[in-house]
Amino acid sequence: MTDKKIILTGDRPTGKLHIGHWVGSLQNRVNLQNSGEYENFIMIADKQALTDNARDPEKIRRSLTEVALDYLAVGLDPAKSTIFVQSQIPALSELTEYYLNLVSLGRLQRNPTVKTEIQQKNFGESIPAGFLIYPVSQAADITAFKASVVPVGDDQEPMLEQAREIVRSFNNIYGEVLVEPEGYFPPKGMGRIPGLDGVKMSKSLNNAIYLSDDSDTLAKKVKSMFTDPEHINIDDPGHVEGNMVFTYLDIFDDDKEKVAELKAQYQHGGLGDMKIKRYLIDVLEGKLAPVRERRNEYAQNMDFVMNMLKEGSEKANAVATQTVQEVRHAMGVDYF
Ligand code: ATP
Ligand code: MG
Repeated sequence: MTDKKIILTGDRPTGKLHIGHWVGSLQNRVNLQNSGEYENFIMIADKQALTDNARDPEKIRRSLTEVALDYLAVGLDPAKSTIFVQSQIPALSELTEYYLNLVSLGRLQRNPTVKTEIQQKNFGESIPAGFLIYPVSQAADITAFKASVVPVGDDQEPMLEQAREIVRSFNNIYGEVLVEPEGYFPPKGMGRIPGLDGVKMSKSLNNAIYLSDDSDTLAKKVKSMFTDPEHINIDDPGHVEGNMVFTYLDIFDDDKEKVAELKAQYQHGGLGDMKIKRYLIDVLEGKLAPVRERRNEYAQNMDFVMNMLKEGSEKANAVATQTVQEVRHAMGVDYF
């Protein structure tokens, strides 16, 4: 393998990717990819997506190609990054099983992101066992490629901590085989973009602006955004904190002076919600139109997209299989 640092990241194919993914993770990945300093592995985590969608495999299957198109649309490039499908790499399941013995049930139940997700998904008493252990399967994904850099959003920090604990315990018991990963997080304020309703924008929560939304859908979503309930008449002074339109302008508008001006005017009174929403629509449209266009072009050539996933999976499989052989050897279970 190369001397370059290795990157592993991915997304669950539970829907199309949204602008939270873009600023929270995809932009970092594209920059790291184009720096030429890393070996990049990008995984579509279909096996993980099944942990809370086992009864809807069709959604996962459909979303696989949607996510692949989103990747190509934002500038991930199969000539520079290995883009692959998790379920096609059996070594990942084998590693997960070995690692599960190094983690306690109590530790899994304390994971704060998993806790929040369990509440959001209303599992009640019926938490799928596979869902509870998905942080362990993420540790398998990361370590199978000996990745040291993992570009993700803020919600993934507990997963990285779990992965590091597994690496330390494995290396302690069986010898130095695995590499400890570090998260690579987006600039402050961009690691957990809120959705139209103010909670974390998420494919599974129906509160997202998608990279593939057409102009009309984008406009409709912005118009439905939560602003300031106390700002009733245009002349009333308005609040910008917690006001989603300004939250998004802070994130997406490169013209910071203009945003500061609009904020001052809104706080003073005299600036209507519809006017700032129209401005935000223009800003987002400027960013998203080229992405949408590239996406539509690739969608005309699905053979290319499927072939990219197949070739990427073959390459990833060879790397992960090599790691699992080293792991078996370290554990002394390579008998023949
Ligand atoms: P799901 O609801 O199926 O979990 P999701 O929208 O949370 O979907 P994931 O596939 O779980 O998306 O996450 C993929 C990557 O995108 C992760 O690195 C995650 O941290 C990042 N990410 C997800 N949502 C956001 C967000 N709202 N803001 C910033 N980054 C995000
Ligand atoms: Mg998620």
